[in-house]
Amino acid sequence: VMASMAHLQKEKLQLQEELLGLQEKLAARENDELSLSLQLQGQVETLKAKLLEQAQEIGRLRSELGGTDVEKHRDLLAAENERLRQEMKACEGELRELRRQQQAPCRDCSHLQENAGLREQLSQLQREAEEARAKLVELDLEVQQKTNRLAEVELRLKDSLAERAEEEERLSRRLRDSQETIASLKSQPQQIKYIIKTVEVESAKAKQALCETQSRNQYLQEQVGMQRQVLKEMEQQLQSSQKTEAQLRAQIMMYEAELERAHGQMLEEMQAMEEEKNHAIEEAFSRAQVEMKAVHENLAGVRTNLLTLQPALRTLTHDYNSLKRQVRDFPLLLQETLRSARAEISQAIEEVHSTNRELLRKYRRELQLRKKCHNELVRLKGNIRVFGRVRPITKEDGEGPEAANAVTFDTDDDAVLHLLHKGKQVSFELDKVFPPQASQEEVGAAILTAGMRRGCGHLPLTLPCHSQVFQEVQALVTSCIDGYNVCIFAYGQTGAGKTYTMEGTAANPGINQRALQLLFSEVRGKAADWDYAITVSAAEIYNEALRDLLGKEPQEKLEIKLCPDGSGQLYVPGLTEFRVQSVEDINKVFEFGHVKRVTECTNLNEHSSRSHALLIITVRGLDRSTGLRTTGKLNLVDLAGSERVGRSGAEGSRLREAQHINKSLSALGDVIYALRSRQGHVPFRNSKLTYLLQDSLSGDSKTLMMVQVSPAEKNTSETLCSLKFAERVRSVELGPVSRKAELVSWPSQEHLEVTKGLLGDSPGSAATPGRGHASHSPGQLSGRSASIRRKLQTSG
Ligand code: ADP
Ligand code: MG
Repeated sequence: VMASMAHLQKEKLQLQEELLGLQEKLAARENDELSLSLQLQGQVETLKAKLLEQAQEIGRLRSELGGTDVEKHRDLLAAENERLRQEMKACEGELRELRRQQQAPCRDCSHLQENAGLREQLSQLQREAEEARAKLVELDLEVQQKTNRLAEVELRLKDSLAERAEEEERLSRRLRDSQETIASLKSQPQQIKYIIKTVEVESAKAKQALCETQSRNQYLQEQVGMQRQVLKEMEQQLQSSQKTEAQLRAQIMMYEAELERAHGQMLEEMQAMEEEKNHAIEEAFSRAQVEMKAVHENLAGVRTNLLTLQPALRTLTHDYNSLKRQVRDFPLLLQETLRSARAEISQAIEEVHSTNRELLRKYRRELQLRKKCHNELVRLKGNIRVFGRVRPITKEDGEGPEAANAVTFDTDDDAVLHLLHKGKQVSFELDKVFPPQASQEEVGAAILTAGMRRGCGHLPLTLPCHSQVFQEVQALVTSCIDGYNVCIFAYGQTGAGKTYTMEGTAANPGINQRALQLLFSEVRGKAADWDYAITVSAAEIYNEALRDLLGKEPQEKLEIKLCPDGSGQLYVPGLTEFRVQSVEDINKVFEFGHVKRVTECTNLNEHSSRSHALLIITVRGLDRSTGLRTTGKLNLVDLAGSERVGRSGAEGSRLREAQHINKSLSALGDVIYALRSRQGHVPFRNSKLTYLLQDSLSGDSKTLMMVQVSPAEKNTSETLCSLKFAERVRSVELGPVSRKAELVSWPSQEHLEVTKGLLGDSPGSAATPGRGHASHSPGQLSGRSASIRRKLQTSG
């Protein structure tokens, strides 16, 4: 800042010097100008005086009317004019010089342009003056001519005057002579009279001559007047040229004034610049002072900071020294602490080990106990459940009385439904009945929870909240994961909704997908301790032939064989298994199976209603902590249509199909009946279906039968058959295990058809046969079945 200030000071001095120089120059220029203007004023004054003189001369000339002096005056005036012109030229030259000198220093001034403009004006004025001068010359010439003529006229006038004087002299002389003669003649009257007469004649002549002379005189005087007029005009011209000269002078004066003004402005500007410069210097100085002040303040702050930091530094060094000491001592301390910690940890590990061992032992015991309890529970409560589902009336049912609704429900008991058949109401009781408005979700949840909840009441149709749904849903799937086998069947006539319940639609999937989804989520939940592998197979039983729906050769008939390991398990050699890990995988598998089925048969709907479709899901688990292995199977079966084919008319392949379906459905009924009544012999081998599902139906497996019914009036006879089948499966009472029940064969499909006539007579006995009876003796049981048989026989 100091340096910049010094620099500025130096600059200021320099500028001041420059200013002084300029001022001096200006003063000199002013002096010059003053002297020049004085000179010019003097010249102007002399010019004025001369002009006055001329005017006087002109006045004098005017007063003198004599023509002889006019010439002299004109010469004089011309000479004077010439001289004045010379003087004016000199003045202009001087003025130009002066202007040039003035223009030189302010080359960059804005007045330059103005000056140029003024110069142009001046040159124009000069041109005008030149023109005026030319005119003057012309006028001079004219004056010359006029004076010449005037001189001539004057000469002539002189001559004529002289002539007239002579004539007058002569005439007066003659007059005198004549008067003398008259006087002499008076004396001589005769002679006189004659003489008078001659004189009279002669005087007339004289008179004429006089007149002529007078007229001539007149003419000459007119000429003189004209000449005077011309002179006057010339004077006027002279006056106008003098006026222009005066104008020019005034302009010159104006230019001078302007010059002066420009000079004044220049001075003012210079002054303003000077002031600005001073102001800038002052400002810079004050700024520098303020900055200096701030720097000083900062310095003071830093000083105080330094003063306060010194004690902190002292404490820091102190701390550092103590830390250093501590660091030196730290390894020893650490070793000691580590030793003690290690000892403590090993002791704790020992303790944990022993507790773990104890816990494992307890866990295994609990596991066994649980399995035992579960088996006992299943044994006590039975593991076969029957649900009914009524589909809504659809467009396919048509219109009119045929499509009227024939099924109603009990408002207080969701296990009861009433069917109006041929004007009579028949009631049935199952484990649960789903009305048409039940959603896939509700049905799925209820079915999948069925395994463990028999006798614990029924699920409400609208489930309160999701967490509860989840808890309820877990049971069936959990038991599959725990290693139990599960079978879910969909039974009913074609069009009653079997496939809808099992497969569902893409937007609203059925049990198949929901069960698998649940399996996945359950398995994920147990992933911390268990490894699980889930595989899927799809098969079809048509005309008692088993075919692989996922295999490369679907036409190939598969065999069911006993496992060679002696476990008594069955297996199907060649049945394709797909490992699935996500819902996407399942969808792919389903798609694959579906495509296979579609390409294999010409009419899928027809074919699917004449065959049983099986989806077999196998869950294999390994407990990583205990090494325990489990295998559970979930069999989802969409059964063939249960409707009876008219005995007359059906022949060939259609008849064979009907026979096979009838046989396999009857066999399924037989097996379930035998299982529920705990008979020693269960006729699994009577059909491919029961034989294949043997290990999933027996033991502590769980079975769920979903009986599908149509509510339409036209289907009531088939509906009746299906519901009777359902009730019969359900109504088999469980006795103690030890009891040997007699083998009672199930009525065949045809027999079911026949019984419908009977039901009208005693709906109560057929609809609710002995629900809640704890036990039957073998005699009672056989008696009841005998009575059924009897009824069948009488009606058949
Ligand atoms: P099935 O497999 O027993 O022959 P489907 O499952 O093919 O019968 O059902 C026949 C028709 O009825 C289908 O169009 C199906 O969508 C419809 N359907 C069945 N059950 C229901 C239901 N609960 N809600 C709505 N539509 C249904
Ligand atoms: Mg179907």
